[in-house]
Amino acid sequence: MPLVGDGVLVPVAGGPPRPYVDLDAAASTSPSVRVAAAVADFLPWCSSVHRGAGLKSRVSSERFEQARDTVLRFVGADPVEHQAVFVRGTTEALNVAAARLGLTRDDVVLTTVAEHHSNLLPWRRHAAVRYVDVDVDGTFTVDDVVAGLDASPRPKVLALTGASNVTGWVPPLAEIAAAARARGVLVVVDGAQLAPHRPVRMAELGIDVLALSGHKMHAPYGAGALVAPRRLLAQGEPLLVGGGAVSAVGLHDVQWGPAPDRDEAGSPNVVGVVALDAAVQELGMRGWAATLRHERRLAAELDRQLATVPGLVRYGPRDADALALATFNLEGVPHGLVAARLSYEHGIGVRSGCFCAHPLVTRLLGLDAERTALFREQVRRGDHHDLPGAVRASTGHG
Ligand code: PLP
Repeated sequence: MPLVGDGVLVPVAGGPPRPYVDLDAAASTSPSVRVAAAVADFLPWCSSVHRGAGLKSRVSSERFEQARDTVLRFVGADPVEHQAVFVRGTTEALNVAAARLGLTRDDVVLTTVAEHHSNLLPWRRHAAVRYVDVDVDGTFTVDDVVAGLDASPRPKVLALTGASNVTGWVPPLAEIAAAARARGVLVVVDGAQLAPHRPVRMAELGIDVLALSGHKMHAPYGAGALVAPRRLLAQGEPLLVGGGAVSAVGLHDVQWGPAPDRDEAGSPNVVGVVALDAAVQELGMRGWAATLRHERRLAAELDRQLATVPGLVRYGPRDADALALATFNLEGVPHGLVAARLSYEHGIGVRSGCFCAHPLVTRLLGLDAERTALFREQVRRGDHHDLPGAVRASTGHG
């Protein structure tokens, strides 16, 4: 799809400027031309939502509310059972979910070693967390998850990634969700990487809660969604409190508003939500068959090119269903230097480091306990020389 900034020229060492090659889409994508146009069309109408009586306010409120339906359709959620709450992104969505599911310290949340920190830390704040371990390639099996589900005490929630931001691996969600549901365990999926790249069918798959971010699907930063059962959102105290989240406030008491207002305290990011709406519509219009064909071509090309590089070590499974993403190291060369040289010498933007997934990267790199402790100590001292990590090249829909 055409993206804003396509073909922008960047300086490279020792030669003429070159068109920028963006291989950092797993972090954030460039906005699409269509999304930018939708935002430009909306800006003249941008006004207060929900509380204004003027026409602009009504248009803004309508666009904001329409976007909920677009998101629900996009993720295959049942609009009678589910509701979309607008948040800043996946991190906020998972924080809200962890705070709002009525967990106590005695409850167990089952998650995996393959998670982004955003799907680990919020759960640790509210419950006891148990992990499904990963293999050396960062994968786990349905049986591994079932063993975690059947361990005592039975988890209340299963929180797992829809697709790994480090390896691109897509776990067998349908089978895992079925196993969790059969045991009465609520299924929460971190859809930050899944939703932009694979069709998500919450109702069909049996996913109860889903988090996603607009900036991973060619919208700008600052808008994402938490899709969750209405019955869960309609009760309990919101994580963020303030105007908009309430129906009535006394000096010593408060009546929380109905869902989804209850979880949207403060003036919402209506422009971001309009962009998110346009982005998911564009993905839907493009059609998943076309997207998957495009991704398979990109994945094959990545495989082919990287296979020609001497001393390159790749991490993660070689799986035809994985995202078009590659995480690797060059033997004997620090990952930061590889990333810097790709940028300065070739105009290629990648990411290097641990990708907000320290437990997984530690495992993929095969770091022992001593090296992991040293890594922690280095970070604590602010010494970033030769830290463990890898290089990630990831593709979007451009
Ligand atoms: N989960 C995964 C798998 C991710 O890749 C990311 C972002 O890198 C996040 C969660 C957090 O998303 P956000 O930064 O939009 O909150």
